[in-house]
Amino acid sequence: MAFGEIMKNSRKGHPAGAPEHPLPRTLYGTGASPGIVIGPVLRVGGADGRYRRRRIDPAQVDKETARFLQAVDRAVAELEESRRQFAAQLADFVPVLDTQVLILKDRPLRQRTVEIIAREKINAEWALERAVEEVRKIFAAIADPYFRERFHDVEQVSERVWRLLAGNGADPLAGAGEPVILLARDFSPADTLRMKSSRILGFLTERGGATSHTTIVARTLGMPAVVGVENVTREVATGDLVVLEGSTGRVHLHPTEDQLELYREQQRQEQSYSEQVARFAHLPPVTIDGLRVRVHANIEMAEEIVAALEYGAGGIGLFRSEYDYVARRQLPDEETLFAAYRELLASVAPFPVTIRTLDIGGDKFASAVGWGGELNPALGSRAIRFSFRRPDIFRTQLRAIYRASVYGKLKIMFPMISSVCEVERIKETTAEVLHELKREGRPVAGEISTGIMIEVPSAVAMADVLAREVDFFSIGTNDLIQYTLAIDRVNEHVAHMYDPLHPAVLRMIRQVVEAGHAAGIEVELCGEMAGDVVCLPLLLGLGLDELSMHPLAIPYIKRMIRNSTGEETAALVREILAMGSSREIRHYLADYLPRRYPEELGSGRLNWRERLC
Ligand code: PEP
Ligand code: MG
Repeated sequence: MAFGEIMKNSRKGHPAGAPEHPLPRTLYGTGASPGIVIGPVLRVGGADGRYRRRRIDPAQVDKETARFLQAVDRAVAELEESRRQFAAQLADFVPVLDTQVLILKDRPLRQRTVEIIAREKINAEWALERAVEEVRKIFAAIADPYFRERFHDVEQVSERVWRLLAGNGADPLAGAGEPVILLARDFSPADTLRMKSSRILGFLTERGGATSHTTIVARTLGMPAVVGVENVTREVATGDLVVLEGSTGRVHLHPTEDQLELYREQQRQEQSYSEQVARFAHLPPVTIDGLRVRVHANIEMAEEIVAALEYGAGGIGLFRSEYDYVARRQLPDEETLFAAYRELLASVAPFPVTIRTLDIGGDKFASAVGWGGELNPALGSRAIRFSFRRPDIFRTQLRAIYRASVYGKLKIMFPMISSVCEVERIKETTAEVLHELKREGRPVAGEISTGIMIEVPSAVAMADVLAREVDFFSIGTNDLIQYTLAIDRVNEHVAHMYDPLHPAVLRMIRQVVEAGHAAGIEVELCGEMAGDVVCLPLLLGLGLDELSMHPLAIPYIKRMIRNSTGEETAALVREILAMGSSREIRHYLADYLPRRYPEELGSGRLNWRERLC
């Protein structure tokens, strides 16, 4: 669809006598992938999210049924085509696409819609909506969280069928002739991947959160996106002009000329700022006075490797291995895991990869591994506790990891350690697995650095003892903050209390670094804090050896490191650790940071001020 046509369509939506310029408004969602983009919206999916509900003549039932079944067949063909086209880039999503094909072929959606058309004499779109509603109720009653979450797939495939019924063509992105911002209730990861080759400025969805897979793909591609904007498909129509702020999650609808000027200026500033920062991606992370700290990336899927290396990661400091388990109904077998880890290690070599063993439970569920709903999952059978409970699963993963070790530079670490006994038990298991592999004649790398995550207060208290048992520590501040401050990291009611700058957290990091260094081991940090420009000077001053973060943060963090000095950041830490409250610390940093790093922080893109207020 050409831009002119988009604009024409948009005017159709405004009632006669409506003001020439609709009132500007701001909608709020989750900033999924940074960048400011300005452009007209192209709604993909049903006709601007709404389709006509029609009663049909009994004589039309067969024709309506055929129209529906044809749309379903085309949806299946589209998904199968995506699977063929992107099998390599989307290896991790293949099971998702397969599930969606199955849903389309399955009785509850296909057969029920056909029955509803025949019984109620309503059009296919409406009948499908009814069928989806029935399926929603069935899913809502399912105790198994894996299955419950699969309702999201039902919605995504139904969206695809609605789009085809609306005659919007086989390709959801084909309409984008001119640069547009795409809007849909949701996009599948496959749709998102294809946006790169089209003239898409960014996208906007009603569903999804910061960690949904569509979001991860968007970030990987550097495609600005805002997700989870309530009712956006009702409130925004094709042709509406919007400004999308991918870092803050704000969407400005019908901006005035003055506002547009402002955002264009911000966009120019951001653009030149990102270009400047991009130059830092491949410079060594060394301070002015020669202090070196490794800057690595956190990833959860092989798809992210290329972006991580492009953004300048010196290795993968945290490979979250959960995805292979949560994306499947079946447990992955040793060969599947081995193939995935081999590819991971080989593609990152000669740089190191730290694979963290399964951290299932807490906010990461998978029914394939028999996670049963617990009242208090964050304090329950999570991470290493789960691995001990299911030695079959643990050993299969360890075998796969060790077998892959000869294809690159492997480090292995274990999550949520809370005592020395757990480390001893891990050592027994790994020794047995290694012995077994040796007996079978399978090669394993000679030196594999083995570490533990420090993310529970008891591990901090015992850090000096634990340090004698392992090769490195990696501080998981996401959990350490949760467990130290008693703040559930996924509970929105206490989210405002989740505080990396709480003096208790900073003292704990200091204690772990000191204990690790006293025992001669390296101390890394891989929580979100590592990629936060507000925390960087403190982490440098605290003496961490490695910071592992979201790939996008790497150039910004490197730039800041290169304009810091070890001496100055150590003095800052002494000053800050003498303070008794987070408020005092924030107040101090709000004054110190812009004075000390005026250029590094001189962009709205980093949003740092909001985190200090
Ligand atoms: C952490 O807890 O800081 C961490 C990196 O692990 P995850 O976020 O996967 O729990
Ligand atoms: Mg953790």
